[in-house]
Amino acid sequence: MDSEDNKFHFQFDLPYKNPVEPVKLSGTSKIRFSCYKGISCFNACCKQADITVTPYDILRLKKRLNLSSGEFLKTYTVPFTIDGQGLPGIKLRTEDNVPICKLLDGDNGCGVYEDRPAACRYYPLGLMNMKSFKAEGEEQHYFIVKEQHCTGHQEKRELTVDQYREEQGVKDYDEFNYPWYKLVLKKKSAGPTIGKPSQMSFDFFFMACYDVDRFRKFITSPNFRKVYDLTDEYYQQLVDDDFELVRFGIRLCDQIMFGVVTVPLVKDAYEKRYEERKDVIEAKFKLAEELAKREDPNAKYIDD
Ligand code: SF4
Ligand code: SF4
Repeated sequence: MDSEDNKFHFQFDLPYKNPVEPVKLSGTSKIRFSCYKGISCFNACCKQADITVTPYDILRLKKRLNLSSGEFLKTYTVPFTIDGQGLPGIKLRTEDNVPICKLLDGDNGCGVYEDRPAACRYYPLGLMNMKSFKAEGEEQHYFIVKEQHCTGHQEKRELTVDQYREEQGVKDYDEFNYPWYKLVLKKKSAGPTIGKPSQMSFDFFFMACYDVDRFRKFITSPNFRKVYDLTDEYYQQLVDDDFELVRFGIRLCDQIMFGVVTVPLVKDAYEKRYEERKDVIEAKFKLAEELAKREDPNAKYIDD
């Protein structure tokens, strides 16, 4: 079997509708490209936008626009599913009936340029994360998108992929998003033995990765610290800092969805919680029994 066949792969940052087959590039591969205000196609790409946003993009943009995560998600994004099972993803919203990015500021160009998403920074490159059956970790590659409307490819400037990434300031984005990329890759490449995560796990993933203000309400609810064993100092950091909180949220998703325990649990947390809610749980159980008996009067129960 060819080594390519041994790999699961997917593209996180396919930034615009792309009819071009990707060619795998590395950091040292050379590309010929330049984009600047005044180029004949200026903003053409933002008028055909299909931008998948990452957790770090959302944090930068909500801060920039001074919005809560809920307001940002509602106004500037639309949900989609990343895989066939319903793993939630987020795309930038476009204007009604036309694919013009809502964050485009007319002829001035991007209205959030300094905080534009990773996919916009990478364009016309795309980031491709791959997992090999044989290799331990993930591999990162790039591909180039050559679309007709983009005349930047006709410019003379030549540079390496790494130089372009440096110029576009993607380092912070890639570093922050890496655990999220890994998590999504793990979900996408998980075989049938892992099974389909519950809708509750997907809802948790959405909240922890994209909706930081709602996630903060979750971790400041009275029961959170009865389950998770965090130092006061670290907990306060989570309460105060959006970025730290989403980092933590991604870890917790890995724990909840895949059982990778990196967040310590309070000893006997589940037993204590059961004791506290014993009356309610038992009442519910009895009610379920009663209802089942009404359906089937011959049903037998252990304490019958
Ligand atoms: S965020 Fe900015 S760069 Fe990205 S598509 Fe929208 S307007 Fe263009
Ligand atoms: S050169 Fe390409 S990336 Fe730059 S504005 Fe034109 S279409 Fe967009």
